[in-house]
Amino acid sequence: RQDRGIRTTNPATGEPGKSYPPCSPGEAGAAAKAAHAAFREWRKTDFDHRASVVRKAAELLRRDADRFAALMTSEMGKTLDEGRAEIEKCAFHCDWFAGNAADYLAEQPVDLGDESGAEAFVTFNPLGVVLAVMPWNFPFWQVIRFAAPALMAGNGALLKHASNVPGCALAIEALFHEAGVPHDLFRSLILSSSHIEALIRDEHIAAVTLTGSVPAGRSVASIAGSVLKKCVLELGGSDAYLVLEDADIPAAAKVAATARMVNGGQSCIAGKRFIVVEAVKTEFETALVEAMKAFTMGDPTSEGTKLGPMQSVEARDEIHEQVEKSIAGGARLLLGGEKPARAGAWYPATVLTDVAEGQPAHDEEVFGPVAAIIAARDEAHAIAIANASEFGLGSGVLTGDLARGRRIAAEELEAGMSFVNENVRSDPRLPFGGVKHSGYGRECAAFGIREFVNIKTVQVK
Ligand code: NAP
Repeated sequence: RQDRGIRTTNPATGEPGKSYPPCSPGEAGAAAKAAHAAFREWRKTDFDHRASVVRKAAELLRRDADRFAALMTSEMGKTLDEGRAEIEKCAFHCDWFAGNAADYLAEQPVDLGDESGAEAFVTFNPLGVVLAVMPWNFPFWQVIRFAAPALMAGNGALLKHASNVPGCALAIEALFHEAGVPHDLFRSLILSSSHIEALIRDEHIAAVTLTGSVPAGRSVASIAGSVLKKCVLELGGSDAYLVLEDADIPAAAKVAATARMVNGGQSCIAGKRFIVVEAVKTEFETALVEAMKAFTMGDPTSEGTKLGPMQSVEARDEIHEQVEKSIAGGARLLLGGEKPARAGAWYPATVLTDVAEGQPAHDEEVFGPVAAIIAARDEAHAIAIANASEFGLGSGVLTGDLARGRRIAAEELEAGMSFVNENVRSDPRLPFGGVKHSGYGRECAAFGIREFVNIKTVQVK
């Protein structure tokens, strides 16, 4: 390990936190080799054994939920309430895959007909050690979402977490080790992203999963492509919610505010663009401002706080710039939009309306507590605006007509997930992922656990 440390910063106060020694490229290579050796043993274990380990991880998550939530708050500013909810979600996810992986990966017989006389089936072998490059916004969930199914499938993993959450990365490693995951099978490497390329190329790494921004995804996917290694990419989003003229507007505004403000607005599947049919635009603007006002800034360590700081002052300043440029381009500010004069990465709940093409709030992902209202003439125009985005992660339809909502969600919106009259959420029982620049591949459910397996055809005669 080198002497130079990675120091965290408390986003609520700007005060420095703990320092963590980084891992050298040589140590990372050795960890990959050891993980591969551990994988060769782990793949021989049966589902019952793996399930007991992953269930134990769920138990430990629940046991230490308060400690883990506090750690997230101190490193990336999430409120304690949201942190506790995140840990419970991780525990549920572990339990879910402990209980269902054997079914998801059970051999599938294929009837070739009497004339063949052969037995044919599909079986799912683990792939090996998967390199996981993860973001800071849900420091536990993003990792557990990948790791629980990967371990259940018989794979190993090396985690390169975001640089601002090294404490979370090491806490997850310790949690898995205490649960019974062999030491070398799952490791957290405190590593700069400049050392990722060598790891992707390392012969002991079988595949890569990355959750993060489009540029990071593009870089990792091109390196993985050059060595023909499988990757799953969960990238950015600019989720559109259609607000149709038949919607219950106060209820729609509450769904919209909830969708926008999850994790202080720093979620890939946060609602970012609210595309409102002109007939109800004024009513929706008033209702959304009311709903967003409920998210007042407060101490993230206090119970009941609805909006903590953003993850960093730099990220806050970027958001503010996107807001100012949108206003300069013709958007109207209805709420918030000012940097508070205090230390820390604070930004208030903000609403912009008359957002249009050419403005950052329309064209780019806004990764903070800023809701953008975009006017549409009618349903067809609203769908066209929603789809005219480089992203395709989540999407929503707010309408009083469920058949109409169902049709638009199922057939019209170019997104990996479409929810009617609810905000988009991830769930271990449902596939999660996007299209277009939001990435490819899926996590969760049977589709997710089968990303990092060899789907093998076997025929016996
Ligand atoms: P980011 O800068 O891309 O960082 C994500 C991870 O990738 C970090 O571990 C980062 O390491 C690493 N990284 C960055 N550049 C890299 C490169 N060129 N090569 C290899 N690794 C690299 O993203 P972020 O700002 O932390 O997260 C926000 C973004 O993630 C948003 O766009 C959001 O929508 C997206 N996201 C997507 C999902 C999803 O499931 N689809 C979920 C959450 C977030 P360092 O920290 O060391 O730079």
